[in-house]
Amino acid sequence: MSITPELPSIKSADTVFGVPGMAAQAKTAGDRWQSRAAPVVIIGGGLAGIAAAVALETAGVPVILLEARRDLGGRAGSFQEPQSQALLDNCQHVLLGCCTNLIDLYRRLGVGDKIRWYKRVHYLDDKGRHYSLWSVPGLPAPLHLGPAMVLFGLLTLSERLSVAHAMRAMMRMGRSGRSLLEGITFGQWLARHHQSAAVIHKFYDPVVISALNEDTRRAGALYAIEVFQEAMLRHHRGYMLGLPDCPLQMLYARKPCRDVRFAARVGEIIFDGRSVQAVRTTTGERIAAAAVIMATNHHAVQKLIPPDRRGMDARFSGLSKLESVPILGAHLWFDRPIMHLPHAALIDGPLQWLFRKDARGTNIHGVISAAREWVDTPHDHCASLFEHQLQKIFRMPDARLVKYRIIVEKRATFSPAAGIDQFRPAQAPPAAGIENLFLAGDYTRTGWPATMEGAVRSGYLAAGALLASLPNFANVPMPLPADLPFEFSARCLSGPD
Ligand SMILES: Cc1cc2nc3c(=O)[nH]c(=O)nc-3n(C[C@H](O)[C@H](O)[C@H](O)COP(=O)(O)OP(=O)(O)OC[C@H]3O[C@@H](n4cnc5c(N)ncnc54)[C@H](O)[C@@H]3O)c2cc1C
Repeated sequence: MSITPELPSIKSADTVFGVPGMAAQAKTAGDRWQSRAAPVVIIGGGLAGIAAAVALETAGVPVILLEARRDLGGRAGSFQEPQSQALLDNCQHVLLGCCTNLIDLYRRLGVGDKIRWYKRVHYLDDKGRHYSLWSVPGLPAPLHLGPAMVLFGLLTLSERLSVAHAMRAMMRMGRSGRSLLEGITFGQWLARHHQSAAVIHKFYDPVVISALNEDTRRAGALYAIEVFQEAMLRHHRGYMLGLPDCPLQMLYARKPCRDVRFAARVGEIIFDGRSVQAVRTTTGERIAAAAVIMATNHHAVQKLIPPDRRGMDARFSGLSKLESVPILGAHLWFDRPIMHLPHAALIDGPLQWLFRKDARGTNIHGVISAAREWVDTPHDHCASLFEHQLQKIFRMPDARLVKYRIIVEKRATFSPAAGIDQFRPAQAPPAAGIENLFLAGDYTRTGWPATMEGAVRSGYLAAGALLASLPNFANVPMPLPADLPFEFSARCLSGPD
């Protein structure tokens, strides 16, 4: 099946979302498309689907976005708490300054100012002792964090030197050296670089477990080192912590494309040989598609693509190898203010990170990543453990937990284990694959772990691959924004990019 309608090439990717003149041009392109072919159908309105929709609509391609739920955001979304009617997030979501694609998407959706950025990252040990990492204004990476590391009292002097040695090794290897580590675990790499159990517990765990949703030693070295290279060692803004100052759902108030359909669950994909003809929703509506971007998680992909079609396309062969790892999020309400810091990484569990959710510090959100052993723990037991942990950390033995809501997302993300990349599918179809079916989603091959940034990259990559398959769009720039640049000092100390 052909998806090559005659369309004028559009030079800028920034059209409907910002530049009025370009919006008109995009509209013309859309009109021409509509007279010739069916629209592109995007299945799934999580961040991957939203990003793909924004990129395509911006380029003038008509899009229909079908989302099974009544709102956008998918796993990075919110729900209404029945008792209070308040919007609560599925779980606190954190971004970093190096998440350039996510930041770009927020800007296009007009919500860039809803992210509050923190230059100081707080740590608390089990006795409530406070430490922090901060940058010196004006100093480029990696020098910007140097003074804070020298004074980082959580680590002994020899532990700080040991971390400096490991960071130096990560810089020297550059991105190209990192890519050679595909088959080894971060545990193996840390052992080779003489990082002690205490350093792993105090320094690496708070960063790696939350960033990768995997145990530090079990995670692939490639992804763990990526976190440090991209967030700490490249650009002074990379490590900054971004927290939405509103419920996640409010970030998606602006529709990513004109035609968004909610409560529209796709139940069937209709094929003709090696191409997709249409999709059918569970209510029976048939929607013709010039091309489809599947922006669901990989479980839904395996359900929706019948085994005989999966057999035609190598992208589907590794999906069953992706292991899901749970995350626990705990909404906690105390009878008094207990937390004045905006956030804190906790050195000792069970909760690993805390986020203050109200100005007074009575409403706290706690997170446990790589939460495999919490899946079957009764929530009242979790709540009592968390209450005790916070009473101890904040030295407030009388503070009482008056309400809680615990959510364990069993299929939060896939495990970024060593060697996992071979099982992650590309967004574009292979030569003999299903020719007009594109994949987006945090599990696809983005070079990033399963994060909001990875999801947005996948959406932009899928949209870019689709545009590249259309002759008339050959000159449209890839929607993927650049990574943070190497600062001069970082470049001098680093290996090849
Ligand atoms: C508890 C938790 C905490 C996390 N914390 C962080 C964090 O702090 N920072 C971070 O960067 N990342 C975090 N993540 C990861 C991040 O949320 C995900 O990587 C990202 O949101 C995935 O987006 P996606 O679009 O790929 O998939 P999804 O968000 O899963 O979106 C898929 C969408 O497809 C829809 N869908 C499925 N089937 C159909 C169908 N048949 N028809 C129509 N629609 C369908 C779904 O309803 C959903 O909306 C966290 C994830 C979880 C679960």
